[in-house]
Amino acid sequence: MSDYVKGLMADLKAKNPAEPEFHQAVQEVVESLALVLDRHPEYRAAKIVERIIEPERIIMFRVPWVDDQGEVRVNRGFRIEMNSAIGPYKGGLRFHPSVNLGILKFLAFEQVFKNSLTTLPMGGGKGGSDFDPKGKSDIEVMRFCQSFMNELFRHIGPNTDVPAGDIGVGGREIGFLFGQYKKLRNEFTGVLTGKGINWGGSLIRPEATGYGAVYFAAEMLATRNETLKGKVCLVSGSGNVSQFTTEKLIQLGAKVVTLSDSSGYIYDEKGIDAEKLKFVMELKNVKRGRIKEYADKYKEAVYTQIDSDAAHNPLWDHRAQCAFPSATQNEINVKDAENLLKNGVYVVSEGANMPTTIEGVNLFLDKKILYGPGKAANAGGVSVSGLEMTQNGMRLPWSREEVDQRLQGIMKSIHSTCVYYSDKFGTPGNYVNGANIGGFIKVADSMLDQGVV
Ligand code: NDP
Repeated sequence: MSDYVKGLMADLKAKNPAEPEFHQAVQEVVESLALVLDRHPEYRAAKIVERIIEPERIIMFRVPWVDDQGEVRVNRGFRIEMNSAIGPYKGGLRFHPSVNLGILKFLAFEQVFKNSLTTLPMGGGKGGSDFDPKGKSDIEVMRFCQSFMNELFRHIGPNTDVPAGDIGVGGREIGFLFGQYKKLRNEFTGVLTGKGINWGGSLIRPEATGYGAVYFAAEMLATRNETLKGKVCLVSGSGNVSQFTTEKLIQLGAKVVTLSDSSGYIYDEKGIDAEKLKFVMELKNVKRGRIKEYADKYKEAVYTQIDSDAAHNPLWDHRAQCAFPSATQNEINVKDAENLLKNGVYVVSEGANMPTTIEGVNLFLDKKILYGPGKAANAGGVSVSGLEMTQNGMRLPWSREEVDQRLQGIMKSIHSTCVYYSDKFGTPGNYVNGANIGGFIKVADSMLDQGVV
């Protein structure tokens, strides 16, 4: 690590204690940026990196609501408005008990670079709450979302900050949030993305992150004249990203053999076909059940409970060629990375944000596998959110084919940006450097143009 990076990290940790995920995300980026700063003293002089790691604004608020038993509950709400150099703040809302300031700052920081890579005019933001939608009735979720929006509505707007979904925030939650915003503001605008198709949503938005991660893997494979056809794939999670990653992999002739949730995972050696995936979608999106029920229904599948204190995750210890981590941060540690390599995996396309620890990432880079980091590989979701904003602005919806074509074009362009910048800075094949540098330069140049603000 250069002295500059060491000094920057020491300051960051002193100023933002107890936020390990934020430290991790910044460290990975500034290590790549050291290559750029050597060649561009103007960025150093304008303190671009020091500014980019400091959120423009953080909003923290109380979210009181009443449960079905009449008990008052209190959660904490957040919105991190990280960087608006290239467009309105844009990034999802996460509802999960693990949510805290440091996790949302890491996500907002990643979002700045990701959004820049998409080619669309979007700044970076992220938000959410430590509310757990699991086990809550629809009415409880509605009351919570309304209370959350009772504060958030003051800070967002179609030209200011446009939130979307993330873990625990899907179509149901976006609907309740949008309804309350509309009531409070008395205006129908594209203030959220991931909306229902009847009220301003875009076709392909639900599919976009998963499809995009698969398109990115296909692009990486194409550099070796290979395709996904016949490849065995490990997918983690069973939510939005995992479901549509699986759907696209099946369509392209790959075989998906795993899915998981926070309790455990299933291994289906025969492969998850379209009919089995339909069952998973009904189980997760309608019945809100657990992945274990897959193995109850399909006897050829094996269910294994996950011990979150174990040294490694057995899901990553199966023979395969490709892995699509699509659940949460740090789900692949260095031991898991070793297991993946040992089992023949040479393509990793990250649907989740920062699913691999720094040691795991370094191992993938050392072994020169096709490793697509989340901020590039999962940018399809926010890209179609950007396209949803465009359609809302024009008040004209596009067809499924049109949106999917544009998504494929954007994923191709992100891939070429990564290749271009990794080559230009002397680290060919390193998509981490390519994504970090490619995402950074556009934001940094815009910040230079706009003065010290
Ligand atoms: P969902 O809530 O739809 O699904 C999340 C899945 O991951 C569930 O199966 C969940 O299991 C599992 N999971 C969540 N937390 C943990 C945990 N701590 N340990 C183990 N498993 C866990 O979320 P999404 O599919 O939308 O998001 C998944 C990942 O993709 C996240 O990292 C998110 O930031 C990222 N992402 C999402 C985008 C989107 O458009 N939705 C865009 C870009 C990135 P359980 O039900 O048991 O909690």
